[in-house]
Amino acid sequence: MSQNGVVDITILGAGPSGLAAAYYAGHRDASVRIIESLEQIGGQVAAVYPEKHVFDVAGHPKIQGQALVELCTEQGLQYEPEVLLGEEVQTLERLNENGEELLSVTTDKGGPYLSRALIITAGHGAFEPRKLGVDDIDAWEGKGLHYFVREKDVFRDRTCVIVGGGDSALDWTLGLQDTAKHPIALVHRRDNFRALETSVNEAKQLETEGRVKILTPYEVREVHGDGHISAVTVENTQSGETEQVECDALITLLGFHSHLGAIADWDLELEGKRQIKIDPTSCETNLPRVYAAGDVAGYPGKITLITIGMGEAAIAANNAVAAIRGEKVQPKYSTD
Ligand SMILES: Cc1cc2nc3c(=O)[nH]c(=O)nc-3n(C[C@H](O)[C@H](O)[C@H](O)COP(=O)(O)OP(=O)(O)OC[C@H]3O[C@@H](n4cnc5c(N)ncnc54)[C@H](O)[C@@H]3O)c2cc1C
Repeated sequence: MSQNGVVDITILGAGPSGLAAAYYAGHRDASVRIIESLEQIGGQVAAVYPEKHVFDVAGHPKIQGQALVELCTEQGLQYEPEVLLGEEVQTLERLNENGEELLSVTTDKGGPYLSRALIITAGHGAFEPRKLGVDDIDAWEGKGLHYFVREKDVFRDRTCVIVGGGDSALDWTLGLQDTAKHPIALVHRRDNFRALETSVNEAKQLETEGRVKILTPYEVREVHGDGHISAVTVENTQSGETEQVECDALITLLGFHSHLGAIADWDLELEGKRQIKIDPTSCETNLPRVYAAGDVAGYPGKITLITIGMGEAAIAANNAVAAIRGEKVQPKYSTD
């Protein structure tokens, strides 16, 4: 569909929002190129929690992360966009070709890739896990220290210590119940968890059955082992008392540091430090014909959920198509 390498819309990032944007753009008969820095499609869902169940995506009462990625991929790629994997977008320029203003992006591997509009669905950008404040913690990577639960089977019959107070920590304390040894220790530095109340209540119920051991307010102070983690020392932050907890899998789920990387140098107006400011009625940024959707897009009251990103992707794609064609923005319903 592209002419001389020029497509209508470049989509930066192949997470759920990027795939939804690709679907909508294709549905409107726009030509699309998706550029994704990872070697795989699916964004955070595929990279961070493929085996977790997701309950809050419209139309799916309960679906495993990877199954959702497969459906999003089938839907997103049905109009056969060009997909470039393993290329991180670096620069954005505007240029004039035969009287037409085009957007030109380059990646760490190549380019320039030309298009009439750009939809940024870069999520958190290149993200990195937040680490425990324990000396030489990096030395335990690959020796029992985990920042993600990608495959549950890795933890089969393991004595797990999970650190964190948010949804991921609670999700995996519950999600590994059928895989890891009991009890799974859950360590959090505060008494109150930030996670969903129903998950916290379920963990507390499992504690009464000896399947979970909740340690709050505790922090991990030391990691022990000879070539592989075998125990951790945890400290009660109120009493100062310490105890050693058996552990052969230390799973720290403390969130991520995220940065927009090169995108931050594109003169895009930001919302806070991490999101690109958009007009939620069009999903356009301060740069004409540059749109953003999903976790990367910000405005007051924004909620970062898959369903919301998919909705914004539809708004962005419809507005991009209208801007390219000089038409009024209007939805076109899908039909046979
Ligand atoms: C542990 C965890 C559990 C979650 N559970 C839920 C849940 O139950 N329900 C829910 O609705 N949401 C959940 N979320 C949030 C949900 O995953 C995100 O809202 C969703 O993934 C956002 O999709 P996205 O496409 O906007 O961004 P992402 O999924 O982050 O995808 C962005 C993609 O862009 C790529 N990219 C970034 N920068 C560049 C670049 N410069 N060049 C090329 N590619 C680039 C990235 O590699 C990535 O693949 C959870 C998140 C986490 C971390």
